Amino acid sequence: MKQYSQLTIISYIVGPTLIVVSHLGSLLIIVTGLSWGAVLWALLLYIIRMLATTGIYHRLLTHKSYQAPTSVLCIGSIVAASAGQMGPSWWKAHHMDHHQCSDQEEDPHSPYMPFKGIKGFWWSQVGWLFSPHFFPSKLPTDVESNLVLKVVDRLHFIPTVALGALSYYIGGVEYLGAFFLSTTVLFHGVATVNSLSHILGEQPFTTNDYSRNHWLVAFLTLGEGWHNLHHAFQWSARHGITVRKGQVAYLPDPTFWFIKILEFLKLASKIRVPSEPELIARARNRNCQNSVFKAEAETSV
Ligand SMILES: [Zn+2]
Ligand SMILES: [Zn+2]
Repeated sequence: MKQYSQLTIISYIVGPTLIVVSHLGSLLIIVTGLSWGAVLWALLLYIIRMLATTGIYHRLLTHKSYQAPTSVLCIGSIVAASAGQMGPSWWKAHHMDHHQCSDQEEDPHSPYMPFKGIKGFWWSQVGWLFSPHFFPSKLPTDVESNLVLKVVDRLHFIPTVALGALSYYIGGVEYLGAFFLSTTVLFHGVATVNSLSHILGEQPFTTNDYSRNHWLVAFLTLGEGWHNLHHAFQWSARHGITVRKGQVAYLPDPTFWFIKILEFLKLASKIRVPSEPELIARARNRNCQNSVFKAEAETSV
């Protein structure tokens, strides 16, 4: 953590603290109950903030799978930060660490390292946030050189707190509880990509890790659960793709639909998606290495 200033460390530690507060705050709904209006509010916040996390933080900021105006990147980052997902520098940095060392010792949140089984699941879902792995190896220079993104990164908690205050203003304690519930479920939804997406599901493509495609994670994360495709083609804006019996098949991927809507609105361009020959060439049965990973994964959970 030598590369971080004290203020940055304090700012980053606020992140997991907010997640703990969000879990506790969700208990408010036991007292207030949930009206249909509050349920819709929670759902709306979930969908918008999940799309900002997957479509902006992950596919645009981190993997540059399409191009968009800086305004889209900045506004999307503020929305993603309001989900308690930390700021853009931290998000890209920890995720690049994951891709560079997937399921190896340096992976910040592998369900196989440093623990296995149920302990490994807990570590990848929650535990790593409360460990030194929470601090990425280094912050990305391209994000750090953008002043707006850098400010959003260090003040990532302000959009979260502001959205909580807005929820309270709209509907009192009940809507505040709905906001906490939405934020908590969203946190666990995103975290299933770290945990379940490396444990459950199919591996249609060759990768040097345990990444998998699973419909449940894809449902919770609006398309991010097609994680084996993502590890095979990190630059692809579309994750919902598989190969069945030698044929390319497309899977539901709401985040990709969101990117296509951005394109329709002239807010996205140069969307990158692998060609069918590229997909077939990467299909798992062409390389026995991945089946070794799969066999190891099945015996270690
Ligand atoms: Zn992964
Ligand atoms: Zn990624």
